[in-house]
Amino acid sequence: MAVEPPTPPNCHFIPMAPTKRFSGKSVIITGSSNGIGRATAVLFAKQGAQVTITGRDEERLEAAKKQILKLTSKPNDLNVVVANLTDSKGLDDIVNSTLTKFGKIDILINNAGANISDGTLNTDQSIELYQKTFQINFQAVVEMIKKTKEHLIKTKGEIVNVSSIAGNEQTFSATPYYCAAKSALNQYTRCIALDLIQYGVRVNSVSPGVVVTGFLGAMGLPDEVRDKMANFMASNKACIPAGFCAKPNDIAEIILFLSDRKKSSYIVGQSIVADGGTSLVTGMTAFDMHEMI
Ligand code: NDP
Repeated sequence: MAVEPPTPPNCHFIPMAPTKRFSGKSVIITGSSNGIGRATAVLFAKQGAQVTITGRDEERLEAAKKQILKLTSKPNDLNVVVANLTDSKGLDDIVNSTLTKFGKIDILINNAGANISDGTLNTDQSIELYQKTFQINFQAVVEMIKKTKEHLIKTKGEIVNVSSIAGNEQTFSATPYYCAAKSALNQYTRCIALDLIQYGVRVNSVSPGVVVTGFLGAMGLPDEVRDKMANFMASNKACIPAGFCAKPNDIAEIILFLSDRKKSSYIVGQSIVADGGTSLVTGMTAFDMHEMI
């Protein structure tokens, strides 16, 4: 006797929301009230991460918060901390509030930095400026990593530091402390990458060239001077062979790539240079051969 096949249960297709790239990941992004850090926070939020944004300027941080809340259906996935990274209480507030709100830390982006200016240049730069410059561009990174290390080991997390081509072999002699601080950061990145990879934590960095952000404004330059400089550099092949300045998002995409174990698992202790070709130019190649003969 032929056996009737069982009747399949009433099965309705329930469409599942696609899992976002950083769903469930807790990310701290320093210097996310502006520029590259803010663009990075926005991208992480779009990709489902739980994001801690931070900076000193409450108004700018509020603007960043509003921008992110427009994108997410989960306002609880955002943690906003007004803090100065050169003050150890500020660092503790960032780490502790993230742990309280999200319960863990998966990714640390050490982005905050500045080419602080007090009007002195070259070897005339003051010792006070040297201390301030190293404090925000180097020491704050070291302290953040020390404070988050045990948590990142628990999650086998990722660290991405934002350096600069100013830390590479080409020099920007007007601002030696900023360049030296970023060089120190590059070597620190390599050293700790080798140490932390044994615990499953990856450390990398990105070294941008010229990016249009609040960076020059923070040096005290008015917007019209900043725009003039950006236009000059973009239209001069000796400055930026690609012919344009980067936007914050261009660097943010690289930061997300380096934070994504599925995309960049075998990259350890490296810095990706993103400078439109700036650091390839030598004094000789900056000129047209026809001008020489
Ligand atoms: P922005 O000035 O636009 O942003 C800098 C961010 O760092 C702001 O959110 C600022 O917040 C924060 N920050 C600065 N000092 C402190 C501090 N003491 N405590 C807490 N937060 C601080 O500049 P960028 O986005 O360009 O800079 C981001 C990173 O990129 C920096 O590390 C910079 O060195 C690097 N970089 C930038 C380049 C460029 O051309 N723009 C080129 C190469 C590297 P707030 O003011 O609210 O405190």
